Amino acid sequence: MSNSSLVTYSRLAKWYSPRKGKISKIAIHHMAARWTAKNCVDFFARGSRYGSSQYCIGYDGSIGLSVPEDKRAWTTSSIWCDEQAVTIEVSNSIAEHPWPISDASYKALIYLIVDICRRNGIKDCTYTGTKEGVLQKHSWYAATPCPGPTLGALFPKISRDVNAMLKSGAPIPGISASMPVSSGGAKVEPYFAKVTVTDLNIRKTPNGEKTKEKLGLNDVVKITKESDGWGYTEGKGWISLKYTSKVQGVASTPTPALVTDALTAWIAKHHLKIGSEGELVGGLQAFLYARGYKISIDRKFGKETDDALKKYQISQSLDGDGIVGQKTWRAIFKEG
Ligand SMILES: [Zn+2]
Repeated sequence: MSNSSLVTYSRLAKWYSPRKGKISKIAIHHMAARWTAKNCVDFFARGSRYGSSQYCIGYDGSIGLSVPEDKRAWTTSSIWCDEQAVTIEVSNSIAEHPWPISDASYKALIYLIVDICRRNGIKDCTYTGTKEGVLQKHSWYAATPCPGPTLGALFPKISRDVNAMLKSGAPIPGISASMPVSSGGAKVEPYFAKVTVTDLNIRKTPNGEKTKEKLGLNDVVKITKESDGWGYTEGKGWISLKYTSKVQGVASTPTPALVTDALTAWIAKHHLKIGSEGELVGGLQAFLYARGYKISIDRKFGKETDDALKKYQISQSLDGDGIVGQKTWRAIFKEG
């Protein structure tokens, strides 16, 4: 068993056990704190609490290793789960309800899970909403709100984003160079590249022997694989991508949802306004309450919440429209 090379800080936790089984699950927790990976890894190393986690992801997207994957971390209140799982603690961007996480943490989480799946032979990173799936929630095993309402609601999206990368074979930024390139590069979502020099050699392998063919200025080719700055074009060979520019808006297959747009996509599906109900409304009410708006936290978005929200929006120089959309959610999730 190996560990992720995405890790930038590692220090062994005080509490962990040997692992007997194979890794087939991934348990995602939230820290209920705003920490860097180092803060969290150091916390588990001190061992003042009987707990640990394989990986820790900071609000800044940093990734730390606390318990190597060949050991069992004490994270999920269940030996059954921890025995089969790689566990990950994700920092919150604000340490209070609704326990948001930053875009940087989300992106790091997706890349880390893709890496864990690839190294451990998990081909389909399922979220079934039950213990049978790959993705696991702490709240299924103990009386805890972990992973919190925001991260908890993202589980189906995490499964989709990870599977899109697993299926396309897309490289993970930061470790693509160390990936095996036995078949000559890693598959990428096909795109078109336009040549920006008068003569561009086509080679048999990345930076290898030249073929007889060349490309000329403004030639457009389809790239299906990449390796360290080199792109493969079907039936021809490898070209240096340095002398090309990506052609925008032409793709042979639909582009998978961009991981960087995770927050935008999430917000698009979670607009709150008068008449909305549920956990997120409760979170919004608690957020407003904590800022001095003395409203009841009943998870129902009524007139009282509407009035308080409009005042809050105006205090943040937002339109006082009473709708929690892209700008207002971002103001609420704002770091620091
Ligand atoms: Zn937890």
